[in-house]
Amino acid sequence: MPPTPSLSTRVTLFSESVIREMTRHANRHSAINLAQGMPDFDPPPEIIAAAQRALRDGYNQYAITWGAPALRTEIARKATSFNHIPHLDPDKHITVTCGSTEAMMAALLATLNPGDEVIVFQPWYENYGPDTKLAQAVPVYVNLSPPDWSFSESKLRAAFTPRTRAIIINTPHNPTGKVFSPAELQLIADLCIQHNALAITDEIYEHILYDGRKHLSIASLPGMAERTITISGLSKTFSVTGWRLGYAIAPEHITTGIRRVHDFLTVGAPHPLQMAAVAAMQLPDAYYSDLVTKYAARRQLLCAHLASAGFEFAEVQGAYYVMTDCAPFGWDDDNAFVKELLIPLIGVAAVPASSFYAPDPETGINPGRGKVRFMFAKKTETLESAGHRLAKLRRM
Ligand code: PLP
Repeated sequence: MPPTPSLSTRVTLFSESVIREMTRHANRHSAINLAQGMPDFDPPPEIIAAAQRALRDGYNQYAITWGAPALRTEIARKATSFNHIPHLDPDKHITVTCGSTEAMMAALLATLNPGDEVIVFQPWYENYGPDTKLAQAVPVYVNLSPPDWSFSESKLRAAFTPRTRAIIINTPHNPTGKVFSPAELQLIADLCIQHNALAITDEIYEHILYDGRKHLSIASLPGMAERTITISGLSKTFSVTGWRLGYAIAPEHITTGIRRVHDFLTVGAPHPLQMAAVAAMQLPDAYYSDLVTKYAARRQLLCAHLASAGFEFAEVQGAYYVMTDCAPFGWDDDNAFVKELLIPLIGVAAVPASSFYAPDPETGINPGRGKVRFMFAKKTETLESAGHRLAKLRRM
């Protein structure tokens, strides 16, 4: 047999997403999918109508590469009034991308050189691992420790070195539901300024915070707008994960680099959906308070079912995930436990937390072993049936 062409080294450094893999397992086993972060309910009807109008009104060709002007104007308005990011110009600071996923990848490719160090809190949102590897950067991990998912100030200080180029922040946080406090964000900001590092912040859950908490964007802190890339998108706020619309807000020279990468990766995000996104972003304030009320009820429902099934977990402060411990069930292998949950007897898909951590360099043990993540962006009836299924665990 003649030899066949091989893969690049860079794609051999990571494997497929465990979260997305769990969705395929859930479909195969007809399990309730509490794994991948996507709603099973519809987006607001006004924005579906706006998408239909945009398709009829001729928005079917490429938009301007870095985003339809009307959408960039809306993003600048919202980022000024809600995120308090100063001095925004939609023509200089905003790039619309195919989801915040592309915004993160484009941000890393635009700002990192091979060998640059990037500080990443772990557990992390699964994409950041492959993203840093594709950018040929070196991730430096700082642990968020249960039960309250706080981090050690001295360990964060020690993680900054002369090679540190950036730190990735995600607040509200997937997978823990942590909301970074103003003091934590101020400490990160001070360290970024001291070490001339970039803050790359994923704020996709910025509108889903509980118990009166307020979202704080690190770019709004003094001296940070000029060293922050703020990433967000429409997926979670408007329940349109399939629309693939996100954006990056950054200083002008960094935006130039992000736009360059974006141009050659995707040319642009879907034009008709960008026009519908303008309508989405013009929804009244009542939309956002209703969003929080509904998510708080879903949180309450799933957490009550998880607690009565015997799971242990910390308070969820934001986003729509619960990180639980499976040790109370006598399991220390999260992968095996997730398989047990998937089988027809239980029929619920969750994510094994070892996919959110790197193994400890000294012991080789993955700190996520023994933890499992559930998500609750689901209809009441879906969460009720998942709860009834999980209740079977008590009797096993
Ligand atoms: N960032 C975080 C923290 C997420 O949890 C997710 C999806 O679950 C994404 C980004 C992906 O967002 P998008 O659909 O905008 O690509």
